[in-house]
Amino acid sequence: MDPTAASAMPQAPARPVRRIVIAGGGTAGWMVAACLSKTMGRLLDIQLVESDEIGTVGVGEATIPPLQIFHQLLELDEREFMAATSATFKLGIQFENWRNGNDRYIHSFGTTGKDHWTAGFQHFWLKGRERGLARDYGDYSLELRAAQDSRFAHLPRGGLSYAYHFDATRYAAFLRTFSESHGVRRIEGKIRAVNLDAASGHIRSLTLDSSASIDGDLFIDCTGFRALLIGEALKVPYEDWSHWLPCDSALAVQTASVGEAVPYTRSIAHASGWQWRIPLQHRVGNGLVYCSRHMSDDEARALLLANVQGEVLTTPRQLKFKPGQRREVWRHNCVAIGLASGFIEPLESTSIHLIQRGLIRLMQMFPTAGISAADIAEYNQQAQTEIEHIRDFVVLHYHLTQRDDSAFWRECRAMNVPASLRHRLALFGETGRVFRGPNELFAENSWIQVMLGQGLMPQQHHPVADLMGDGELTDFLESIRGTINRTVSQLPPHERYVQQYCAAPAR
Ligand code: FAD
Repeated sequence: MDPTAASAMPQAPARPVRRIVIAGGGTAGWMVAACLSKTMGRLLDIQLVESDEIGTVGVGEATIPPLQIFHQLLELDEREFMAATSATFKLGIQFENWRNGNDRYIHSFGTTGKDHWTAGFQHFWLKGRERGLARDYGDYSLELRAAQDSRFAHLPRGGLSYAYHFDATRYAAFLRTFSESHGVRRIEGKIRAVNLDAASGHIRSLTLDSSASIDGDLFIDCTGFRALLIGEALKVPYEDWSHWLPCDSALAVQTASVGEAVPYTRSIAHASGWQWRIPLQHRVGNGLVYCSRHMSDDEARALLLANVQGEVLTTPRQLKFKPGQRREVWRHNCVAIGLASGFIEPLESTSIHLIQRGLIRLMQMFPTAGISAADIAEYNQQAQTEIEHIRDFVVLHYHLTQRDDSAFWRECRAMNVPASLRHRLALFGETGRVFRGPNELFAENSWIQVMLGQGLMPQQHHPVADLMGDGELTDFLESIRGTINRTVSQLPPHERYVQQYCAAPAR
């Protein structure tokens, strides 16, 4: 994407933005509505159009910790939100069979060990491992150990970094109630046409099947994969990343809970994709993400149904997608948020986070006095950098594998990954170093946990670790591990904590 492209495009004379039209009422549409109405509702007239007939994608139930910031912005009560959406806590993702077909590791939230200013904890761990003094890397992470023991509690001073699993349909409904109470007007109907201003190319209005017309100054495209405004009407091209992200299909099915809800998502690799298991209070969300070149839809259905636990509550729902990004997510007076703006794939639960980021960026650059080409260029540039970083992190899981038991995994191993990812892999593999760039979502700990989990062991460590004698290094490692184990042993079981803290009402 050329950051100057939007600036070079003809723009209509700046005109104040007051009337906001949100097209689509999935997670994206209602998150936008909630945030705009809460923060700027008194300045704006906000309408949201959604079609009951079309419905929403209905998945998207695992999140990452920054969602708490979004909820703080809305001043939501956590217990109320969790009870309304039948939510559980999430401390990370357990990856199973991703490295060699018979392995597991957890990518947890939070940090691991203690860093020195010259060198991250991994260097001390590598030294300890070399001398036979260190345990598993995960033994030095509080969140990871709590996840393994299925324990959870709120600790003082933000002691545990956590996110949520929730029911996506209930989340949208919860945010709808919130938004309507803050003045958002919901219009039910199917959008038939997106009407452009011939001179400026801006969107003037939407026409519904009922022939009603909805005018606006700024249109937010939250129509999901259809991308009715940004794609169909404004013709912004879509950049296809399927050469890096091979999965293009998913099947989702809900099952009855069997056993206690664990505080982590499970991601189980199969021959041509992977399966998710997301435990909620009232049920489990399951799905299979797969590559249609290597697995037929019928095979996928059979594989998924053979690998779920508990009574199957819904008919498996098929979803097709193209991993990639919209070349510009803001063009003229239209901003795309949610699946309309791009989709990596669900492996690291980053899609709802990208909705939040798009939304916060929009608030920061809100064009109250009129749309500026410079804002558009800046917005698009920031969105691109952000999603490309996440793309690299997800590609890492597929590429860095020792699996060669199927054509799918052999293809993943052999793929030519983005240069930015190649560099990270070389840097860690050769030196044990990882650096987080500005505005990057995934911190050093995430990269290290996944690179080690996928089998990449650095050849070197920082020499500062050599300065520690065996006794000092043992004391250092054991004091971290001891503190973590003591803390974890005092936490209540996750399931019990959820029931006491935010039990969902029976429906
Ligand atoms: P949708 O839910 O598709 O909503 C689109 C809206 O537009 C609907 O209200 C629809 O009625 C409306 N609409 C469309 N066309 C018209 C029309 N013509 N007229 C009127 N209205 C219209 N994200 C995560 O963060 N974590 C996850 O674990 C996760 N898992 C996923 C698993 C899969 C298989 C997939 C495909 C996605 C997953 N995601 C996940 C992504 C997540 O589901 C989406 O980011 C989120 O649901 C937002 O979707 P949306 O609102 O953009 O689109």
